[in-house]
Amino acid sequence: MTLQKRKIVIVGAGPVGCYLGQLLKRDGYSPQIIEEDSEIGRPIRCAGIIGQGIFKDMEIPPSKESILNEIQGAEISYKDSSFVIKRNQVAFIIDRAVFDQSLSRGLDVALNTKFTGLSRIGGRYKIETNKGDFTADIVIGADGPNSKVRKLAGLRGNIKLHKGLQYRIKNEQYGGELVDVQFIHPFHEFCWVIPEGNGIIRVGAISQRPHKDLENFIKEKGIKGEIVEKNGGLIPIGSTAIVSENIAVVGDAACQIKPITSGGIYYGMKSAEILAKAIRNGNLADYQKDWREKFGQEVDFCLLARGVMETLNNGTQERIFNYMKDNAHLIEQLGDFENHSSVIWGLAANPKTYQTIGITAFDLLRNPKFIKGTINRLKHRIFK
Ligand SMILES: Cc1cc2nc3c(=O)[nH]c(=O)nc-3n(C[C@H](O)[C@H](O)[C@H](O)COP(=O)(O)OP(=O)(O)OC[C@H]3O[C@@H](n4cnc5c(N)ncnc54)[C@H](O)[C@@H]3O)c2cc1C
Repeated sequence: MTLQKRKIVIVGAGPVGCYLGQLLKRDGYSPQIIEEDSEIGRPIRCAGIIGQGIFKDMEIPPSKESILNEIQGAEISYKDSSFVIKRNQVAFIIDRAVFDQSLSRGLDVALNTKFTGLSRIGGRYKIETNKGDFTADIVIGADGPNSKVRKLAGLRGNIKLHKGLQYRIKNEQYGGELVDVQFIHPFHEFCWVIPEGNGIIRVGAISQRPHKDLENFIKEKGIKGEIVEKNGGLIPIGSTAIVSENIAVVGDAACQIKPITSGGIYYGMKSAEILAKAIRNGNLADYQKDWREKFGQEVDFCLLARGVMETLNNGTQERIFNYMKDNAHLIEQLGDFENHSSVIWGLAANPKTYQTIGITAFDLLRNPKFIKGTINRLKHRIFK
């Protein structure tokens, strides 16, 4: 059998499953996508802010029809302190439903089809759904944070699911081109205001108690207006194995998310390209190795930075935030929407940070939660 004759089933028609479908179609395959929802792109579980790299760096650039607004920077606040960083066209605000639908164009997607089980029959797989069985030579789980494919394939990892909630609110007060980010705890729990650009703002929170934090944020900011839509979802932070025999996971199912800002669309789509290459070359195991090579170091470093910030006391968190505020011009120069370690390394290389680093290290070494967390992370580093 030629490689292209192999039957591939992708579970999940989110942006990553659909983009993988497009890559495989380009390579001569006829992938079957199965999707439990009745419509692609809905319900929305996303703030819809993406870097310009999504339109510049992809092998198959997505259509720009989903773009609603251009963002030129952010105002970042913690307690009573804030600073602004600006960069031309740093990001776009998209209509996520339109984005996902445009990526699905021309693909074979079975809607209302829920994946329920997986078993091996000879060299192939039986994929069970509420609409009957499918068979495949290769099975891909692009089925989001709670991936059933990941669980049934026995792909082990160390994943924590975080919660996000967002309201779309009719409001003319925030017409600008800046995103407003207010940290609850720098840099992992935060609220935001995103101007959609059409008299609607997106106000959201990622935290342990997003409903309470979002309501408080709206009250504190005095945000008024009719809520026209509510979106909520889970964000998987951590790491996991991503291949087992002829089964692989990609996107949120594979924790391919930026650990600090929780953005997952860029990493997920770039990861789909690595997976498509491994399929094209007839060696799925390369996917794990090549992914580690491209993203492993960045994700590990940002997971560590996140772990550190999560365990620091409030005083040290404030000190680090104020250091960043004093060096906002450096962040402006070093900042890369998709690659956050460049900012951390750049700031750490500045001799003026040494005092802040010393105090942070002292705080960490006195902190049993950090020591325990670090040992746990090292124990769970199941692949390198
Ligand atoms: C509140 C919030 C805000 C966010 N904001 C941003 C942002 O601004 N920018 C950004 O880059 N990222 C953001 N993210 C993350 C981003 O939404 C995800 O990284 C992205 O959706 C991942 O795409 P995916 O295709 O891997 O998974 P998903 O988009 O989750 O798609 C998975 C698909 O699989 C389907 N599925 C699941 N189980 C089954 C099953 N058993 N059978 C059949 N189908 C199934 C689902 O219905 C879904 O359609 C945010 C997330 C949240 C929760």
